[in-house]
Amino acid sequence: MTDSFVFSPPAPVAVPVQGGGLFPVRRIYCVGRNYAEHAREMGHDPDREPPFFFGKPADAIVTGGGEVPYPSLTQNLHHEIELVVAIGAAGSDITVEAAPGHIFGYAVGLDLTRRDLQQEARKAGRPWDMGKGFDHSAPIGEIAPVAAAGHPETAWIELRVNGETRQAADIADMTWSVPEIVAELSRFIALQPGDLIFTGTPAGVSAIVRGDLLEGSVAGVGTVSVRIA
Ligand code: MN
Repeated sequence: MTDSFVFSPPAPVAVPVQGGGLFPVRRIYCVGRNYAEHAREMGHDPDREPPFFFGKPADAIVTGGGEVPYPSLTQNLHHEIELVVAIGAAGSDITVEAAPGHIFGYAVGLDLTRRDLQQEARKAGRPWDMGKGFDHSAPIGEIAPVAAAGHPETAWIELRVNGETRQAADIADMTWSVPEIVAELSRFIALQPGDLIFTGTPAGVSAIVRGDLLEGSVAGVGTVSVRIA
């Protein structure tokens, strides 16, 4: 006797790959406070508080641009432009030296944040999930495979809102580099193909409202573009 699903399982979440194909998403991990200037603008001392990890549900992914609905229960929705690492090979306790070999490619993503809910949770010592992991909270552009684009170590990362630059930095300014992030995260959990890692946002986060057009880019990697509806 074969057990069948009691209802249809959700469609797989996938991100288009530049040049063709779909990257199936397993989990989304995010790095908090990975750029010193952003840590300072959020009221933290980057010399005393190292970066850390949190998560979002895989189906928070939004692909193909278009419109993102303004989420419920917030008066302070923020943009966070981020370089995203797409894992292609499993591993635990990965060394910094071996980390690039576990990476399939890179993309540009937005860690949309209900800042008011996140800050209330922070003050109360509660989890960030409802501030960070809501529906449609992870728009992402196409994945540039390493085979085509290599491993970016220095590249301009930028976010424009309605054509005005709000965030601009170099990914070389990250506190933890990409190989260090992969190595550190793999000490906590076993990374698997399909995992995405949002690597943190530079300074300049700010509130967005309905109708705003968000356009992000990482030079040599790609773009992401959505309108808040
Ligand atoms: Mn973030």
